[in-house]
Amino acid sequence: MKSLPYFCRGEVIRGFGRGSKELGIPTANFPDLVVDTLPADIGTGIYYGWACVDNGDVYKMVMSIGWNPYYKNTKKSMETHVIHTFKEDFYGEILSVVMVGYIRPERSYNSLAEALIAAINNDIEEAKAQLEVPEHLKLRDDNFLTSAPSPSSALPPTSASTSQTIMNGH
Ligand code: ADP
Ligand code: MG
Repeated sequence: MKSLPYFCRGEVIRGFGRGSKELGIPTANFPDLVVDTLPADIGTGIYYGWACVDNGDVYKMVMSIGWNPYYKNTKKSMETHVIHTFKEDFYGEILSVVMVGYIRPERSYNSLAEALIAAINNDIEEAKAQLEVPEHLKLRDDNFLTSAPSPSSALPPTSASTSQTIMNGH
């Protein structure tokens, strides 16, 4: 995939409560603008990379890009599970990510929640290992991740409601 690594950021919006948190694997959703500007060669599936909430620490992440059943699979969603235990939810905050590599295609799970959880836990282990590769580890320190503009101060008032920017190959 020539577009990887891919850098993007956006406000964390509410998903459709498909029970990720209940499964113990909450996924932070990006707004449509971020999803709609994904390069064409970044298809659906599971990715790994680095993530940062506002100006906090950088953590490993796994991301699912999938067709959204809520919109009868006409729209995609980008859902990031940050591999860290946060004290609180971070809806409305700016999530910056760098997608580093691809793990596997999207699969549909009509099956047991246990099978889904097991698959995601495999993805998390794969992500953790892959991100220790020096070439991937160095992206953790990329300025992009920790340079999120503050929605209240750094953006002009007119764009405050769409506080998101997309960057690639910077
Ligand atoms: P939703 O359907 O609104 O996306 P989820 O059950 O998937 O609900 O929970 C996602 C929310 O949980 C995120 O938007 C974020 O505020 C919070 N959250 C807490 N810890 C994490 C984490 N480690 N990774 C991602 N989101 C987290
Ligand atoms: Mg979610």
